[in-house]
Amino acid sequence: MNPRQSQRPKLLIIDDEWQIRSLLVDLLGSVYHCSEASSAEDGLSALTHETFDLVISDIDMGGMSGLELVPRVHSIAPDTVVVMISGNQDIEFAIKALRVGAFDYITKPIDIRHVEASVERALKHSALLQEKRLYKEQIENLLQQRTAEVDWLAYYDTVTQLPNRALFEDRLTQAVAIARAKDQSLGVLFISLDQFKKVNDSLGHVPGDSLLREFGERLKSCISKSDTVARFGGDEFALLRTQIDGTDDITETIGMLSQVLRFSFDLPGQELYATASVGVSLFPFDGDDSQTLLKNAGAALYKAKRSGGANYQFYTADMHELATRRLALETNLRRAIQNEEFLLHYQPRVSVDSLAITGVEALVRWQHPQLGLVSPSEFIPLAEDTGLIVPIGEWVLRHACRQNQEWQDRGFAPIQMSVNISARQFHDRDMSETIIRILDETGLSPRNLDLELTESSIMHNAEFAAGVLNRLKSMGVNISIDDFGTGFSSLASLKRLPIDVLKIDQSFVRDATTDPDDAALVMAIITLAHNLRLKVIAEGVETAEQLRFLQLLRCDEIQGYFFSRPCSAEDLVTLFDTSFPKVVS
Ligand code: C2E
Ligand code: MG
Ligand code: MG
Repeated sequence: MNPRQSQRPKLLIIDDEWQIRSLLVDLLGSVYHCSEASSAEDGLSALTHETFDLVISDIDMGGMSGLELVPRVHSIAPDTVVVMISGNQDIEFAIKALRVGAFDYITKPIDIRHVEASVERALKHSALLQEKRLYKEQIENLLQQRTAEVDWLAYYDTVTQLPNRALFEDRLTQAVAIARAKDQSLGVLFISLDQFKKVNDSLGHVPGDSLLREFGERLKSCISKSDTVARFGGDEFALLRTQIDGTDDITETIGMLSQVLRFSFDLPGQELYATASVGVSLFPFDGDDSQTLLKNAGAALYKAKRSGGANYQFYTADMHELATRRLALETNLRRAIQNEEFLLHYQPRVSVDSLAITGVEALVRWQHPQLGLVSPSEFIPLAEDTGLIVPIGEWVLRHACRQNQEWQDRGFAPIQMSVNISARQFHDRDMSETIIRILDETGLSPRNLDLELTESSIMHNAEFAAGVLNRLKSMGVNISIDDFGTGFSSLASLKRLPIDVLKIDQSFVRDATTDPDDAALVMAIITLAHNLRLKVIAEGVETAEQLRFLQLLRCDEIQGYFFSRPCSAEDLVTLFDTSFPKVVS
């Protein structure tokens, strides 16, 4: 409520005749709070010190007239209503008074009822004016607040309260201008939380947002006041380091960030282990303007993520091609499934003793209309990130199983078909059903299918893995661990799982004949695997020495360029013919 309404309304009576003033005070003083002034000048002076709801003023006074007074009252107190009194009964006077802004006009001799009615009306009008003004003020305040909010939203991220990309770019542009003028360097660090999508997908947005906030706080704790941390959206953050002294300063910052790049994060009921990757570009070496610096830091971040996350990379000129190519591949990958642009090559694995083919591994290739044959190591990680690995994997499985059955139908002895299953595919709920359906469709016996899994996809959630593997095993499908030695699993942890084969990663095989450490490792893996009754296949065997070494260690099978590179189904048939004769039916 307006404070003026909570008290008695305040009236200012201006008249140079004291009799009129006291008559009016007598009349109105019991209901209203009345003040007096004997001239227009005195009245105006009172109005500058005090607020009145109503001014009752004579028109004809010595000095300033009542008609001159009205606009001046309104310029001092816009809500104050003025009622005029005059001895002049002439209608022309009334009109003049109303024209200058008076609300009403009372004539002398003063009629009590007329005065009371006029004052009442005038006060109502005054209250209305006050209300209108208050309302207008409220609206203006609200509008101001909204504008401030909209401004805030345009420059800040609502989840972390950190500056957003727009503000970061603004500050970066300014910082570049200053650094250029002062001949200084600056660093742009593009930072991304690894696996954030998985946290969001599996735990939901609320813990996801908490993780982002906490990460933002940690980043802030690593910088000085003149630097900026921003969130660009999703799992992407950026850090601007000004006034640096070359790469050493940045390496130092990254050193400080090291607690940030690997940290544990408490959620109600569980502890999460999160890591982050960083891409760095430096002014003036890696770009002369903010956009180039950001683009190049982005390319460096991409490299850091591709190197497995939890690391940092400085920008180098060749990174750009890599990032551009990735973008081109990503947009085309979806289309590739519909257009059937994938094809399979097969690489035989052979027995170490007899060099007879025991099975083949299906290796997918992408026949890109412009880029030519794209290697799986380039597009499989992309397909994993986008989830497209599930339909691609299904396509591979179907074609590989169909091909294997077709060879048998043509009279070749049954062999095993190994199919690579990526982590995302393995964790897809429908994987087992898809395999059953495909075996059913193609008529291939489960014994002739071998699934190659990596240590990490199994170790990620050992309990879940055990469930799926037992199910597959009970169907009769074989299970291999691919690239063994590159993950963190111990042989003991694999003991509890229904696994048939270990494939020793080619990186150990490559140097086994020259590096004693790798030789010892290969030897240990083979011995331990045999103790667990697992078959061992050595990958990437390229030379006769490697084969001899593996024969000595009693490795079971080999796969590698020494025997055959991966080749088309037709080319493989010629190898079949030499390896084993057709079964005569
Ligand atoms: P991987 O499963 O370990 O396959 C073996 C890789 O080593 C193949 O590369 C093969 O061509 C290569 N290789 C075989 N012998 C030799 C050798 O003697 N020396 C050398 N240097 N390399 C040899 P490729 O075909 O480029 O495949 C790379 C990886 O892509 C595979 O590694 C596998 O992890 C993945 N991949 C291939 N096809 C599929 C697929 O259908 N699904 C999934 N999820 N992943 C696939
Ligand atoms: Mg494999
Ligand atoms: Mg492998």
